[in-house]
Amino acid sequence: MSLLNVDNLSVRIGGVTPVDGVSFSIDAGESFVLLGESGSGKSMTALAITRLLPSGGHITAGDILFDGQQLQFLPESGMRRLRGSGMAMIFQEPQTSLNPVMTIGEQIAEALPPGSSRAAQRAEVIRLLDEVGIPNPQTRLHSYPFELSGGQKQRAMIAQALAGQPKLLIADEPTTALDVTLQAQILELIRRLARERAMSLLMITHDLGVARHMADKVGIMYAGQLVETLPVGKGRGIEQAFHPYTLKLMDAVPNLNRAGARLAAIPGRVPPLDQPFHGCRFADRCEHAFSPCAGTPPAWTALGQGHAVRCHLTAVSDARSKPEKAVAATVIPPGQETVLKVRDLEVTFIQRTGQLFGKQRIRAVDGISFDLAGSETLALVGESGCGKTTAVKAILGLTPVTHGEVILDGQRVSGLSERQFKPHRKLAQIVFQDPYSSLNPRMRVGDILMEGMSALDVDAPSSREAAIASLLEKVGLPQDTAFKYPHEFSGGQRQRIAIARALAVKPRVLICDEPTSALDVSVQAQILNLLVDLQREEGLAMVFITHNLAAVGYLAHRVAVMKEGKIVETGATRDILTRPQHPYTQGLLAAVI
Ligand code: SF4
Repeated sequence: MSLLNVDNLSVRIGGVTPVDGVSFSIDAGESFVLLGESGSGKSMTALAITRLLPSGGHITAGDILFDGQQLQFLPESGMRRLRGSGMAMIFQEPQTSLNPVMTIGEQIAEALPPGSSRAAQRAEVIRLLDEVGIPNPQTRLHSYPFELSGGQKQRAMIAQALAGQPKLLIADEPTTALDVTLQAQILELIRRLARERAMSLLMITHDLGVARHMADKVGIMYAGQLVETLPVGKGRGIEQAFHPYTLKLMDAVPNLNRAGARLAAIPGRVPPLDQPFHGCRFADRCEHAFSPCAGTPPAWTALGQGHAVRCHLTAVSDARSKPEKAVAATVIPPGQETVLKVRDLEVTFIQRTGQLFGKQRIRAVDGISFDLAGSETLALVGESGCGKTTAVKAILGLTPVTHGEVILDGQRVSGLSERQFKPHRKLAQIVFQDPYSSLNPRMRVGDILMEGMSALDVDAPSSREAAIASLLEKVGLPQDTAFKYPHEFSGGQRQRIAIARALAVKPRVLICDEPTSALDVSVQAQILNLLVDLQREEGLAMVFITHNLAAVGYLAHRVAVMKEGKIVETGATRDILTRPQHPYTQGLLAAVI
């Protein structure tokens, strides 16, 4: 019997229809995963179910039947009672979801059913914190969110969601901001709690691995509509998918077997949802589109038990052909010349201990060494806080080196003053994780690219505009990009701009700090393809910081695994990913879902 039945749900907000005729059901104890790119309508569907749509948003059609109640007609007081006790939601970013001025104990107690004594509330908060795996719950309940690590904050948010004993837990990208080990722990925690409490799960993700790991049933959303639903688990896999969009998403995922090959990125973008559609919404991006696709919206066709798809190809016998597999290509061999040499690099910070005048020395990077040749990619992997980012900041001259040396293009750059470092700054450039916060929103793209060239005196002033035009072409952006502001671009386009900015000063080493972790799988494929192309053309040496081991397998020649500031294992990518020797590396790989 269904706990939640969503029938033909449509949502309108500010002239846009982000959800258009979505139907699905979730049985008691079942786990349903909504999968799709950003802007496909997944989160809006969840917000419509909880009636927490942003201001101006409203449900224009459809029924939401939850535990026997018609939610779209329920007064707000009834919805308030239901949120928490009937259904609860956890979000992607616990940092912004938890109240920073309340202890986590107070926040969890707020979500408990009313009527119990303070002592009973305290006991229940401690029990919940213990249940979600927070150590020392008796003392931790007095902690403020800033005193908890990322994983602990997410656990606290899960405890808060469980406080009302919900029948349905809605989890919106709950592990996107976490590293691979924490992701595995949090997903396992959610699975265990759902199983033990016979709780249903509606999970939203753009990550196929998460969908595979968590779902009994997957619904793939595209441009506000479900385009395919299929059961997974019990011997059935997402590999049974039929819809060209689902297959393209699967083919865009990088891995070791596709190393050096072009990933099958989906061309174009999700269409704007403020227009009427006359045919299939995926038609402009679909390599299988044929005559009926542009003019007639495809209807649902059942392909098997629980498997249904919305695609005209089902009416054409044998018309389906799997998307081309990524064409195997030889991995670019690294060059001979060493462009970056790191020797016994050590970075320490002084931290206050909380006692009067008390200080302690934190060794963030503890004597790491590696060489990097032109056209070579070294992946630095490890959990959050292992020292990867501090190490590259030291290489870039952004953090003082305590001990050891950094030699860039044959020149020792560690230990230099800001002024002495300036002429060497162009040798190594960085692309950051978040393309939304790494570009100045007040500057046009052309000025952003020009700024670095002028500051570091790259090219003659008269030739810089032509150099910018050629850079934009190289990273696959139209020429008028130079006259626009960052907010006029999508996440993937902004990351291309960030790459162009780094390349504008002609570096020998490009450092990429989680450059695709904020991007959808199809956009990630485009950016990884671009990085491989640029390395091939420019002979760039790359340091790739990531917790995405699939991207490591695809892109890197060598891997260095970091733990507590040290490199604990290093070697050729295939060796590390298939025959890890260090228990920590083995643990990291075991955590990959
Ligand atoms: Fe492609 Fe046509 Fe199927 Fe849409 S209906 S996914 S355009 S084949």
